[in-house]
Amino acid sequence: MSAVPSWPRLLATTAAVLLLTACGTPVVNPVTGKTERTVMDEQAEITEGAKAHQGVLQEYGVLANPALQTYVNDIGQRLARLSHRNQLKWTFTVLDSPEINAFALPGGYIYVTRGIMAYLDSEAELAGIIGHEIGHVTARHGAQRATRQQNAGLGVLAATVFGVLFEGATGVQGAAQAASQLGQTVAAGRVARYSREQETQADQLGAEYLARNGYNPRNMIDVIAVLKRQEQFVTDQAKAQGKPVGGGDSWLASHPSNDQRLADIQRVAATYTGTYSDDFQGRYYKAIEGLPFGDSREQGVVRGRHFYHEDLNIALTAPQGWEVRNTAEAIVLANGAGDAALIVRLVPANAGSTHEEIIRNVAKPTDGRAEKRLVNGLPLTAFAGTRRNSNGQAVALRLSVVTGPGNRNYLLQYAATDATAAQRASAGLAEAEGSMRPLSAADKAAARPYTLRITPMPRGGFAELARLSGGVHSEARLRLLNGVYGSGQEPAPGAPVKVIN
Ligand SMILES: [Zn+2]
Repeated sequence: MSAVPSWPRLLATTAAVLLLTACGTPVVNPVTGKTERTVMDEQAEITEGAKAHQGVLQEYGVLANPALQTYVNDIGQRLARLSHRNQLKWTFTVLDSPEINAFALPGGYIYVTRGIMAYLDSEAELAGIIGHEIGHVTARHGAQRATRQQNAGLGVLAATVFGVLFEGATGVQGAAQAASQLGQTVAAGRVARYSREQETQADQLGAEYLARNGYNPRNMIDVIAVLKRQEQFVTDQAKAQGKPVGGGDSWLASHPSNDQRLADIQRVAATYTGTYSDDFQGRYYKAIEGLPFGDSREQGVVRGRHFYHEDLNIALTAPQGWEVRNTAEAIVLANGAGDAALIVRLVPANAGSTHEEIIRNVAKPTDGRAEKRLVNGLPLTAFAGTRRNSNGQAVALRLSVVTGPGNRNYLLQYAATDATAAQRASAGLAEAEGSMRPLSAADKAAARPYTLRITPMPRGGFAELARLSGGVHSEARLRLLNGVYGSGQEPAPGAPVKVIN
């Protein structure tokens, strides 16, 4: 959860509908040189991109690391200058998100998350990802998608201008962090995907832009391999936990395998025969050293069944067998069956100044009664009643408002799939609510976010490296982080490697 209440804000993009003619105007595609009919000419790309850019910055937040922003922007500008659309004004941003993601907006807006940067191994690989995203823009993939949807009579929701989640975007930061998983599912529904052909073209353009800038185009292969290892890791973790692999609406279920992509890009890279520069691993490691890993201080951290937020000075603990998910919008304490949850949100200041006012304004009950008490010293108002749903039917409503440290108000909503589930989970829900507290000294110690560091590979290998990370992160994850998951390879003792502590 962000320290800034975010739930009333919608991405500008999801609401904005382009008013466009059905037939479209002809434009020349800068990459292919062919004329295509479009509902989104260059000016529209720039206008819509700029609008959506503000939404992205709000939704994800910009990583507060000027040195890293400058580093990434410099690489991006160099690649863009030698791209097919060097006249565009390009903007490169590192987002403060643990998601493994990179995407583009029409008009020249490119994003990489700190989450994906942790798994890359050199400047050349980062350039490969940025080059791929630049390729989506130069080849007008967002505009093509908007046009296709318009022609199919779907209208052009500006959500379609969103870039794809970069193919490794499982967002799974480890089994313990179901939070990201939920956030990712939500994101996946919002983000339009490019076609297989567009992805292949973006990979090819990525390789081309690498070569034009003196980086070895083979780094594009390495980037797809990073994503492929992520896929393997997630599959293995799910199997080990006896969970279904790629079931439901997960990314793995909906996404074509990276195998084909890998084969395609290997063929493309083989056609380049120039001499290329170093991959600049040293420069890259220096840039990412000290990055937060997983949840950051600003988002609050999940540790097992506990949630800690230093800036808000609150902690929550889920009952045994439940799990905690931390999303941008809310903290969700969900039961094992997944049919009941306590949803905790920060209340925006304009929602009311008293608990009663907040309940009236936010929940809009038709009737019910409120009861005041203290939870760990914090004033709480519990409300049980009914409200009308969008069909006009009366539905049960159960929630509490708690005033936390700093006079910030929280809404604790009792959510369940039906009345029976609510009944079954009532003790757990009450326990979850009763755990809300200001941070104790022990909580504060546990609230420290993880940091990515560079260290010489110890003689004891990954077992020793896992000990160096306090035993919190598995050997498997450290292998994944260092690009050798599933390969059986080991970096030589003394070689710089990534560790989390
Ligand atoms: Zn892509």
